[in-house]
Amino acid sequence: MMLYESLRKELRSKKYRMTAQREIVLKVFAESGERHLGAEDVYRKLVEKRYRISKATVYRTVELLSKLGFLRRLEFGEGIYRYELAAPDAETLHQHIVCKACGEVIEVDEKIVKDLVKNVESKTGYVINDYDIKFYGLCPKCQNRKSISRENRI
Ligand SMILES: [Zn+2]
Ligand SMILES: [Zn+2]
Repeated sequence: MMLYESLRKELRSKKYRMTAQREIVLKVFAESGERHLGAEDVYRKLVEKRYRISKATVYRTVELLSKLGFLRRLEFGEGIYRYELAAPDAETLHQHIVCKACGEVIEVDEKIVKDLVKNVESKTGYVINDYDIKFYGLCPKCQNRKSISRENRI
């Protein structure tokens, strides 16, 4: 809730009109247990709450909030964009691992990634100020499923 309040203040201070729609869409992200929502998910949650909003408005609002830096746009190879609240500080910054089999997405602590970035900097002489790293693989559950089906074949 704190995060949502500070986002709301920021949105207001940036002179962007804090329309009811923008406010309610941010609130969905702030209050949702799931972290990585597609515009379709946001729309579904608002409909469940009996909030009257069109799908086109939800899509437009989500895209705008991402342009303004309130949401981070994510792409996990599903053919849709997902979004999460933009990290307000280094503490909450993270990257993602996607399971190729079931599509589960988990978050990777930025500290782990930082070492990799430092390594790339020292190898290339670049100063890296932005990156977007995704890891793909099989989650523990899907690894188990794979090994079971392999055993069955034998
Ligand atoms: Zn999986
Ligand atoms: Zn995330």
